[in-house]
Amino acid sequence: MLEIRNLSVSFGQTRILKDINMTLTRGECLALIGESGTGKTTLGRSIIGLGDGECTGEILYRGRNLLGLTEREMSEIRWNQIAMVFQNVENALNPLYTILGQVMEPMVEHGLYTRPEAKIRAGELLRRVGISPDFHSFYPHQLSGGQKQRALIAMALANDPELLIMDEPTSALDPITKAEIIKLLQQIGRQHTMLVITHDFSTAATLAQKTAVLYGGRIVELGPTGLILSSPKHPYTRGLLRAYPNMTTTKDLQGIPGRLSRPNRGCPFAPRCTQSMPACSQTCPELIENGGRMVACHLGGIVPLLEVKNVGKSF
Ligand code: SF4
Repeated sequence: MLEIRNLSVSFGQTRILKDINMTLTRGECLALIGESGTGKTTLGRSIIGLGDGECTGEILYRGRNLLGLTEREMSEIRWNQIAMVFQNVENALNPLYTILGQVMEPMVEHGLYTRPEAKIRAGELLRRVGISPDFHSFYPHQLSGGQKQRALIAMALANDPELLIMDEPTSALDPITKAEIIKLLQQIGRQHTMLVITHDFSTAATLAQKTAVLYGGRIVELGPTGLILSSPKHPYTRGLLRAYPNMTTTKDLQGIPGRLSRPNRGCPFAPRCTQSMPACSQTCPELIENGGRMVACHLGGIVPLLEVKNVGKSF
C-alpha cells in the first residue's frame, strides 16, 4: 500500500530525514520509534502532504508518487484515503467548534455527506470511540485529554480512510486512559492500516507487527516488533530499551549519554555510541539484513564480546 523510497527531507541546510526506505502492506501496523527530534513527525506529515521541508525521493501510495501531486490532488487523498491524528491533543482541536462539528467537518468539506447525514455519522463515530452523546455538543476545553484524543481519532475515521497515521496517540495520557486508547486502536487496527509514531515501546509492542527505529533522521533498525524488542541489535535500540522502565523495577535504568546531533558524515549515532570506531565517523552504514531484521551499523549491531544479556524486555 505504501512504499517510501530514498526519502530525504531538509529545512534549509538542516537535513531532518535522510534516505528513508520502508513499506507498509494492507492491514499492517508499523511503529516508528525514537526519541524527540529524530524526524518521526516529519515523516508522518510528509506522507500526508503537510510537511514544510523540501522532499526528495518517492512516497508511493498505491503506486502513485504523492510527492509529484498538486495540492488539489493531495487534498483528495488527505482524509479520504490517508488521515492523520496529530500529536498534542490540547492544541489539535479547534476551540471554537463542538467535537460533533469537528468530526462532521471532513465529511462536509469533501462533499461525501450532506450536513444532516454527516451529523448522524459523526454521532455514530463518537459513540464508536467511546464518547457518549452527552458530550457531543461540548467544546474541546470542556473535555478531558482522553476524550480529546478519542475525538481526534473519530475525526480521522470520518471519511473512512484506509491508512491512518497516529502521531503519539498515547502521550500525555494517564496510565488508565492510555490503556483504553491502546485498546481502541487495537480495534481500529483490525480494519485499517496504521503507522504509529511513538516514543513508547509498550505502545509499539501492543499495536505494531513491524517497528522502525529512527535516529538522526535515518532508520537504524527495522523488522518484526517482537524480534526488535526481545533482541535489539543496533546500539541505539539497545540504549533506548535500557532507558525504558518496566512494570516491576527501575533498578537497571540507564540513559543514553550525550545529545541527539546530526553530524554531516558518518553514522549519526557515532557521537554517543559506546561501540564507535574510526570508520563510524567517516562512513554512514547502510541498512542491511541481519538476523531477521535490517540494521544500519558497521559492526552489524552490538559486538558479541560486549553483548549484555537481558537487555531486551518483554511487554
Ligand atoms: Fe555505533 Fe559505529 Fe554502529 Fe554507528 S556504525 S551504531 S557508531 S558501532
